[in-house]
Amino acid sequence: MKYRSTRAKDGRADVSLSNAILSGLAPDGGLYVPVVMPKLDPSRLLPHVGDLPALASELLKPFAAGDVLEGELREMCEAAFTFEAPLRKFKNGPYVLELFHGPTAAFKDFGARFLAQVVSRVAESPIVLVATSGDTGGAVAAAFDRLEGCDVFVLFPENGVSRRQRHQLTCWSSNVHSFAVRGSFDDCQKMVKQAFLAWKGRRPLTSANSINIGRLLPQMVYYANASLAFSRAEPGAGPARFVIPTGNLGNAQAAIWAREAGLPIGALQLATNANRALAEFFGGRPWSPQPSIATLANAMDVGNPSNAERLFHLYEDPRAAELSACAVTDEEIRDEIRAADREWGEIIDPHTATAFRAMRMARDYGAIAVATAHPAKFETIVEPLIGRAVPLPESLRAIENRPERFATLGASSEELLAALAKVD
Ligand SMILES: *Cc1c(COP(=O)(O)O)cnc(C)c1O
Repeated sequence: MKYRSTRAKDGRADVSLSNAILSGLAPDGGLYVPVVMPKLDPSRLLPHVGDLPALASELLKPFAAGDVLEGELREMCEAAFTFEAPLRKFKNGPYVLELFHGPTAAFKDFGARFLAQVVSRVAESPIVLVATSGDTGGAVAAAFDRLEGCDVFVLFPENGVSRRQRHQLTCWSSNVHSFAVRGSFDDCQKMVKQAFLAWKGRRPLTSANSINIGRLLPQMVYYANASLAFSRAEPGAGPARFVIPTGNLGNAQAAIWAREAGLPIGALQLATNANRALAEFFGGRPWSPQPSIATLANAMDVGNPSNAERLFHLYEDPRAAELSACAVTDEEIRDEIRAADREWGEIIDPHTATAFRAMRMARDYGAIAVATAHPAKFETIVEPLIGRAVPLPESLRAIENRPERFATLGASSEELLAALAKVD
């Protein structure tokens, strides 16, 4: 299997899976996609439902065909998928796909841990750079924590993350180097970009941002698992439909690819916060990215979803592809968190609340809501709404008492390069 940039005219610059992952962005500025979508046979995956490492290595096999890592795929999946992605049914309520049982209690653990397996096996003593405004940096830091030969640099805006978010960015071992930047998230991203251009060190630099295909492919695994589990539990209900909290479209793109690869997946609904670009487009307007606005579901504060380029590459008209989108305001998020507690006795986080709200607006509880984060990560929002404490899950309790360790950096690539030189 080869991977091609969304902007390539022909196959001359096609690359292998591990090269696509190490480069992140294609040299022409496009995003890597599989040259052809493999057609999987669901009946071969069915025996592995509930066993994510086995299901993952079967599903990802054609995507890794011909790659240097092909023979290590099973081992990599065993190391990456160390937690579950259960499909639950709320009492008197809808089905929920819970993606928050990983080390940092959000779905980004799936992508980050698989990416870490690839990078640590293919690159020679890599340095991984990630700019973060929340969940991504924590998941990447946790995934590379104590991985031999790898150093990770995590940059976050000094005043742009909550206390608990900061703890998840800074509580790791000595190979994770965390920096509070005196600037915004945009400054952090700019510093990372400039550092890449200026880097002349011995060790290879690689990025772990949300457009990396190494984060998307492993996310297909939980959609495969849940759609097959759903078909088994509800044989008359037709293919599984999902409502997906969406920001950069990475999670949803994985669901779309799983559907294209032949899994029993039906219509997909993208639930966004008040950043309305997708809702406007699927409502019939021309595609028009917007500046992002801040909301309660801050991991989805995206005005210009970076994976839209993959969506438009796959479908000439995404509106004709059993896709829809719906935007949810902060007031509706708050209301939905209260309603889930009242009606089903369940505590949900602000991101997941957008999916439940979309279901409520459509008066359709036959789809599966995707739960992208554990509510304990957003306790300052959730607890006042439901009037009680959110218990910490096992994963977050395990890191709760680790000390924070981070340095402060000015918002300049020179300062970042000086810090990088110390580990080179
Ligand atoms: C990143 C994130 C999202 C958005 O996912 P995309 O792949 O960017 O669409 C939703 N919920 C949570 C909790 C996240 O961390």
